[in-house]
Amino acid sequence: MANVRVAVRVRPLSKREIKEGGRIIVEVDGNVAKIRNLKVDSRPDGFGDFREKIVAFGFDYCYWSVNPEDPQYASQDVVFQDLGTEVLSGAAKGYNICLFAYGQTGSGKTYTMLGTPGLFIREEDYAPLPSSCRIKVSFLEIYNERVRDLLKQSDKKKSYSLRVREHPELGPYVQGLSQHVVTNYKQVIQLLEEGIANRITAATHIHEASSRSHAIFTIYYTQAVLENNLPSEIASKINLVDLAGSERADPSYCKDRITEGANINKSLVTLGIVISTLAQNSQAFSSCQSLNSAASDGDSGIPSSPSGTSSGAGPSRRQSYIPYRDSVLTWLLKDSLGGNSKTIMVATVSPAHTSYSETMSTLRYASNAKHIINKPRVNEDANV
Ligand code: ADP
Repeated sequence: MANVRVAVRVRPLSKREIKEGGRIIVEVDGNVAKIRNLKVDSRPDGFGDFREKIVAFGFDYCYWSVNPEDPQYASQDVVFQDLGTEVLSGAAKGYNICLFAYGQTGSGKTYTMLGTPGLFIREEDYAPLPSSCRIKVSFLEIYNERVRDLLKQSDKKKSYSLRVREHPELGPYVQGLSQHVVTNYKQVIQLLEEGIANRITAATHIHEASSRSHAIFTIYYTQAVLENNLPSEIASKINLVDLAGSERADPSYCKDRITEGANINKSLVTLGIVISTLAQNSQAFSSCQSLNSAASDGDSGIPSSPSGTSSGAGPSRRQSYIPYRDSVLTWLLKDSLGGNSKTIMVATVSPAHTSYSETMSTLRYASNAKHIINKPRVNEDANV
């Protein structure tokens, strides 16, 4: 059993934030991320509350990527050394791996996950693959609960029509999704770039694609091995998931922006419910584990689980139903959340005071995800 590993990454101030006089309110101290609430006096009589409040959250990793001159600055390389190595070595051993990027639009999800030079698929790794390995990739987008193949051209009407089905042993999959055999890493990059270009073409402005839709880049990795002198195969799957902007799960954000066509994102909301329910179940399971105060303050920043299913406390508490099938994203990623996968969540945040609420809510969400327990196992098929 393994807990979901959670990393937080703080990006540099954007040009816009600098122009608006953005002040840095996030800091990183070892594996602790701290956020300050700059209190400004909003009362006309000048008797408002000026006190600053600092909230601290502990994670598995915290990355300060704000200023390359800072001693604790974490470049793509530093992040890769931790997370990328964990992903690749896990896949090589035959585990399914899932990496999510969660955060507000513009906080660095795509940059961390899929951007080129990307973190998990590195341009310098152009070496041909050993002949004992086979790699295939696929790339899909979920928009408005519909699935599109980012690596297959089709006319617009048909493009979002792929169906999700469930195989009795292999679990959920997208029927008809194209899989592309690659023989070197350069081809992986080319397919990734092709898919990203397809994703952006459909959007009306640069951030729209990453704000509204989820993209899942999957690498299927099969190795031929000898097990007790018999040929066998180890098959693993790496899912890199660039989620829609976290503000899409916030009804008040979406209500304010009806004219922009913003709509609440069902997959993102369901992901929040699945995460919080799994976290509650894990806490119930691990009897006397003391809870992180930030995650148990009743205001986790994510929707609560369906009520009435998890009353009581302690190890005997009944496990709640996990509504994986309520959204396309959670159904497809069922194994990555509480199942047969090693899962890492990277929560990306802006350091600016203007993003206080979003950053706070991302940190709470990420803090909750730490409690999920998965059951990864090596996917080995003897006597292939
Ligand atoms: P998102 O996918 O969350 O909407 P992006 O990944 O597109 O956000 O990032 C928004 C902008 O911030 C981009 O211009 C990106 O290059 C920049 N950026 C994000 N993270 C970093 C980082 N760690 N270092 C430098 N620039 C970054």
